[in-house]
Parts: sequence; structure tokens; C-alpha cells
Amino acid sequence: METKPLNIFDFTQESLADFLVEKGFSKFSASQIFDWLYKKKEVDPQNWSNVSKKCREYLVENVDFYLPKVIWNAKSKDGTRKFLVQMNDGQTVESVLIPAKNRLTQCISSQVGCAIGCTFCHTGTQGFKRHLTTGEVTGQFLTLSIWLRENVHVDERITNIVYMGQGEPLHNYENVKKATQNFLNDKGFGLGQRRITLSTSGLVPKIKMLHDFPPVNIAISLHSAVDDTRTELMPINKVYDLKRLFEAIKEIPLKAHRRITYEYLLIDGLNDQPKDIDALAKLLEQKESKINLIPFNEYPGSNYKKPSVKRTLWFMDQMCKKGFTCTIRATKGDDILAACGQLKTEYEKLNTWDNQVEIVPVDKKVQEIASL
Ligand code: SAH
Ligand code: SF4
Repeated sequence: METKPLNIFDFTQESLADFLVEKGFSKFSASQIFDWLYKKKEVDPQNWSNVSKKCREYLVENVDFYLPKVIWNAKSKDGTRKFLVQMNDGQTVESVLIPAKNRLTQCISSQVGCAIGCTFCHTGTQGFKRHLTTGEVTGQFLTLSIWLRENVHVDERITNIVYMGQGEPLHNYENVKKATQNFLNDKGFGLGQRRITLSTSGLVPKIKMLHDFPPVNIAISLHSAVDDTRTELMPINKVYDLKRLFEAIKEIPLKAHRRITYEYLLIDGLNDQPKDIDALAKLLEQKESKINLIPFNEYPGSNYKKPSVKRTLWFMDQMCKKGFTCTIRATKGDDILAACGQLKTEYEKLNTWDNQVEIVPVDKKVQEIASL
């Protein structure tokens, strides 16, 4: 099959307007097309009644309309739905829908695999395959929105987005930025800034570029306030240690009353001790931080153990007593393999696809991260 260089979902409204003007069409068509694609979720150009026939024909001939496809899905007892979504080249990523009171949050992937290689993460063990394009990130949201309309209810809407699926979103800075512009655009999906959260493992050079990124919520995957422990969990800490990370975090432009969320993966016996609490309290500022505890989600072959409920509650209580806002992320969708990267790996095993895991030596990994 011939692939066209441009995909319709790669465009922001601005770049589509420029493209159309360059080809001799009106700038206004871009806003009409955005309305069809993202407000009405009508992806068949034949039905774009207010867009000129000539313009539609030009697009069909020159632009690719491939939208990521749901190839597998499952619903957990708690209502979480997991999806395996396939791209045009056959690569797959996972996307999750998590219901909560008055909200339906989509956990979006930004890459196939991940270059950061955290030792607790299934995606990390898969290595980096490729970035997702703007169209593939934007398309994940559109695909699931349409899936909900067709399979659940016409009025079912996704209200929030978290970049907490596979991949390091800041490693794919430009594409994630453009997709985020589409999510925020009033003519596009029209989500509010507070409804989008970008989670990063701490890619310092890109954190320093956040002044140029739409002002969405930022979550930092901290997991330990002790350098040695953090390095054991995340090789990125060898390149960008806590000192460098927090120098960069101080530069993040925060809107009034907005705080940074620190994700803290709680692992039994590893980072759940009184000394870890003291280090965390010393490192973070109460007024500027929210702590989100994530009990480690075990998977077959994982090196770590999840903490007991009692231990998790104790850790939270200690942080609250020190004046922090601290919450626990409920483990959703346990019965359908919820943690990052697990579904895809299991699916690949089921299908006896190439399931070889490349174990990259830590020093090589560190060099790789330093060059991202
Ligand atoms: N790469 C980015 C965003 C994707 S990972 C980042 O690391 O922030 C999103 C979250 O999933 C991270 O906070 C990560 O710590 C968490 N995660 C990964 N593996 C997990 C596991 N086995 N159990 C629980 N949470 C996990
Ligand atoms: Fe990549 Fe995030 Fe997984 Fe680390 S936790 S390997 S950064 S996806």
C-alpha cells in the first residue's frame, strides 16, 4: 500500500490553514475541517458538507486519512477499559480509559517502547522502537472517542488526558506539543488546560523547554528523594540527578495556585522507610507540591514487590502529618494487567510475536539517555 507523507491528524489548525492556503484553498476551511474531525468526529471527508468538493478531493488524493485502530479491548471489574491500538505500520501501543466520579480519563501513549529503561517498568524493558507522530497521539484520543460513541453511548465523552501510557512524552517533545494543541484547541477537542497532565521521568533539557509548551499540569515521576535509590530505579538519575532535576523544575512556569504533582512509586522495602519519608519532606515544598503515591503493580517476572495496604496508608499519613497534600492512586484494572506496558507484552506473548527483550547494559543506557 502506498503511504502518503502527510496524515490529516498530523496537522494543527494553524499548519492545516497554511497548507490549504499554499494549495490555493481558503484558510477558513481549516477551521471547518477541524470542526468535522474533532467536534463532530466525522472522519469521512465525503460527509464534510460545507467544505468545497475541490478541497475534499485534493485532500483525499494527497493526504493519508489513516486513524489508529482498536485491535483488542477488555473491561475490568472496576470499569477500567484497556485498548490495544494499532498504527499504520502495524506497531501497537496501549491506551487506557479510567472512570472516576464525573470524569473519564484517557491514559495516552507517546512512543512505541521507551528509551529511559526504568527497572520497574514493563515498557522500559522493551527498549525504544519509535516516536508516535502527532497524528498517532491525536488519533488515539479520536479513536477511543469514536469507539465509545459506537460501543457504549453516543454521549459518552473522554474528559481528561494523562500522558502516562507507554513512552516518555518529553522525549517526543514536538509531536506531543502539537497533539496537546489539538486537544486544547476550541475548534479541536476543546479540553481545558487543567484536564491534561503530562508525566515525565525527568528529562532535564526538555523540562527547561516547558515555557514553550501549553500550560498543562505537570507530573514528575520522582519515586525516591534519595539519589542512590532513584538511580537504582531510573537510570536517567545518573544523567540528571536530583540536584539538576530540581534546578530545572524551579524554572517551570506555573500558573497561580497550580502545583506540581510528584509521582512516588511505592515499592516494598525499597523506598518506603522512615528515611525515605524524611528525604522526601526535605526535598519538596509543601505549598508547591502534591504527592501521588502509586503502589507498585507487580507483573510476572517483576523484580519488586508491592507494599501492603497498611504500609501505603502509613506512608501517606506520615506525609500528611508533615503538611503535604498526599493521595494514593487506586490500582485500577488489576484483572486486565493495568501497569504501564503490561498489556502489550502479554498480547505479544499470546500472539507469539517476537518477544525477545534486549537487556541494555546500564552504562550504555546512561550514554543513550544523555544524548536524548
Ligand atoms: N514516561 C513517563 C510517563 C509514562 S509512565 C514517566 O515515567 O513519567 C507513567 C507512570 O506509570 C509513571 O509514574 C510510572 O512510574 C508508572 N509505572 C510504570 N511501571 C509501573 C508499575 N509496574 N507499577 C505502577 N506504576 C508503574
Ligand atoms: Fe519510560 Fe516512564 Fe516506563 Fe520509565 S516509567 S521506562 S520513563 S515509560
